Amino acid sequence: MRTLVTGGAGMIGSHLVDALIDGGDEVVVLDNFLTGRRENLAHRDDSPLMQVLEADVSVATDLMEKVGPVDRVYHLASPASPIDFARYPLETLMTNAVGTRNALDLARHWDARFLLASTSEIYGDPEVHPQPETYRGNASSLGPRSCYDEGKRFAESLAMTYWREYGVDVRIARLFNTYGPRSRTDDGRVVPTFCVQALSRRPLTVFGSGLQTRSLCYVSDIVRGLIALMETRGIGGEAVNLGCPEERTVLEIAEIIAALAGSPCHIEGGPLPVDDPARRCPDIGKAQRLLGWLPEIDLETGLKMTLEHFRAELALSRGAAA
Ligand code: NAD
Ligand code: UDP
Repeated sequence: MRTLVTGGAGMIGSHLVDALIDGGDEVVVLDNFLTGRRENLAHRDDSPLMQVLEADVSVATDLMEKVGPVDRVYHLASPASPIDFARYPLETLMTNAVGTRNALDLARHWDARFLLASTSEIYGDPEVHPQPETYRGNASSLGPRSCYDEGKRFAESLAMTYWREYGVDVRIARLFNTYGPRSRTDDGRVVPTFCVQALSRRPLTVFGSGLQTRSLCYVSDIVRGLIALMETRGIGGEAVNLGCPEERTVLEIAEIIAALAGSPCHIEGGPLPVDDPARRCPDIGKAQRLLGWLPEIDLETGLKMTLEHFRAELALSRGAAA
C-alpha cells in the first residue's frame, strides 16, 4: 500500500508514519514544518519506505504529480496547539480550507481513501457531557479559537461534500486531547508545558481555576484508532470520536505530572484563555461499536513515557547550551 500522511512530521503524524512503515506501507510525508519537526522522522531516514516532501499543502500546485499514486491519504496537517493557532491564524484557516481541498482533490484523483484528522474543538465549549458525534456543538465563529474550530468544521463539511458529490471514501476522526513523546518543549499544550515545568523544577502554570477538565489519550492509542478507522470497510462518510473517556481537571493533571516527575507541585496562576472549554470528554461508544477500539494506555503509563521524552530533550538542550 502507498500512503500519504500530510502533517507527518508532527507529534501524532510521526507516530502514525512509524506504525504505517512497521506495517509495510510505503509512506509519503508532506509537511512544511510549521509546527512539526524534521527530527521527528530522522530515525526513519534510511528507510526505503519513507519519502519526505517539504511543501505547504494549502499552496502546493502540482501536488498530484509530486506525491504520485496513493491508496490512502491521512490528512493531519494543521497547527493544533492553542498557542500555535494563535500565532498562525491565517495559516490555520487556509490549511484546513484550501489544504483540505487540495488533499481531497489528490485523493479523488488517485482514487484513494481519505481520513481527516478533525478535533473535539468542533464541539466548542460543549453543553452536553460526554460529547457524542451527534452533538452539534457550541463553537464561536468570532473568537480567537475560531480559526481552528471553524477551520476544522469547514474541513469536515468539505470532506462530506466530496463523499456525497464525488464518492470519495472519506472518514473523519474527531480527536480529543492527545499527548505523547515528540511534542516540542515550547508546544504550549497542557501536557508538554507541565512536563517541562515539572522537570525543570519550575512552578506549573495552571490557567483559571484549574477546575476545567480534559480527557487525555496517549498517542499510540490514537494511532491505532486512526488506522482502524481508515481500514474498516463500509464506513465511508462516518465521523468518529477518538479519545480517552476519563475526565481530569487541569489541577489533577498538574498534580499527577509533578508527582511522576518527582517534583513539588508549585502552582502559578494565570488567566484562563478566551473561549477555553470548561469540560471535555468523548463518548467513544461509536468507535467501540464500529472499530472495536478502546484506549489501552493508562494516564500514568503514558505520562511516564512522555516525561522520558522531555527529560531527553531538556538534557540535549542543556548539553547544547554548555
Ligand atoms: P502538530 O503541530 O505536532 O502536527 C501538525 C503537523 O502539520 C506539523 O508537522 C506541521 O508542520 C504540519 N503542517 C501545518 N500546516 C501545514 C501545511 N500548511 N502544510 C503542510 N504541513 C503543515 O500537531 P498534532 O498534535 O500532531 O496534530 C496533528 C493533527 O491532529 C492536526 O490536524 C490536529 O488538528 C489534530 N488533532 C490533534 C489533537 C491533539 O491533542 N494532539 C487533538 C485534536 C486534533
Ligand atoms: N492549560 C493550563 N496551563 C498551561 C497550558 C494549558 O492551565 O500551561 C489549560 C488550558 O487553559 C486548558 C487545558 O489546560 O484548559 C488544556 O489546554 P491545551 O492547550 O492543552 O489544549 P485545549 O484542550 O485547550 O485545546
